[in-house]
Formats: sequence, structure tokens, C-alpha cells
Amino acid sequence: MRPINEIIVHCTATRADWWAGKRTSEKVAEIKRWHIEDRGWKDIGYHYLIDRDGTVAKGRPIEQVGAHVSGHNTGTIGISLFGGHGSAETDMFHDHFTNAQEAALHNLIADLRKRFGIIKISGHNQYAAKSCPGFNVPDWFRAVSPPPADYVPVTSAPSFWADLFAAIAAIFGKGKP
Ligand SMILES: [Zn+2]
Repeated sequence: MRPINEIIVHCTATRADWWAGKRTSEKVAEIKRWHIEDRGWKDIGYHYLIDRDGTVAKGRPIEQVGAHVSGHNTGTIGISLFGGHGSAETDMFHDHFTNAQEAALHNLIADLRKRFGIIKISGHNQYAAKSCPGFNVPDWFRAVSPPPADYVPVTSAPSFWADLFAAIAAIFGKGKP
């Protein structure tokens, strides 16, 4: 297995309703076709793709170096979210992606971190003058990650944590009845 130390998040830049009703496998096959036929790559560039309903599909085998960020493919895993068409790098996750995608991305990152000891979580827009994936990945990741289990709240500064938990609750509560 190649050494992996970073996860880089992308989007497919397709519209929210692109190929709605088709299977995730069909959508992945189409992205793969674009990468092979239009860009001349040997395989799809991403290692994982996350559909609008949260379905996680495998792209290029993670044992192989991907093709997703120029100069940062070695030692990284590329995950792409379906959607993000017309997004700006200053947008928020929920401006373009679903709650199901958020949960799936969070779970996938947690699994990969456990498996490979990955510390760094980045977005394509940190390495290129692009909006991809259409939000600030480190900020998003900090907001959705609960504090460590052994964390003891500092009683002298309760408002900070109260605000933080309220913000996290707001993110997870979004869209729920
Ligand atoms: Zn990208």
C-alpha cells in the first residue's frame, strides 16, 4: 500500500439534478468516461464519489495514485461530491450539497483516517485557483467534528463551547423535521 497522509475533497461540478433517477454506478461510469476520453487519463481521477443520496462509490483503487490535484496526487486520496455546479469557494457546504452527502463524507473521512492515520483534510481550492469543492473544507470539517471524548470543558469560558455546540447542532439539525 502506498503511504497516504491527506484527503482532498472535490466536487463533480455537475448540477444538483444531473442524471437524477440514474444509479450511482451509471453516474460514476459517466465521470470515468469524461476523465478517460476527454482528459486522456488511464482511469477516473477520484478514489471515491458521493452521490446526492449519500451513496458512496469507489473510483480509482486507493492503492493507485489518483488524478485530482495537480502536484498533490502522491500521498493523497481524492473524494468527490456529486453537485457543486456554479459554486464559489466562499460558499457553505449546504449551499450545494445534501445532508446525506455530509454524513457520508464525514463517515468516509473517519473510516479512512482510522485506517491510514490520516491527519490532513483539505479541499481542491486550497491548491488551485478553483472553487472546487465549493466550500472551505478545513472549516467545514472542524465544524462537524465533535470534540475528543476525553475533552473536559473549561468552566471559565462556557459561552465559546455553548456557541460551538449550538453551531454543530444547527448543522446537524438542518433539514430535519
Ligand atoms: Zn477538484
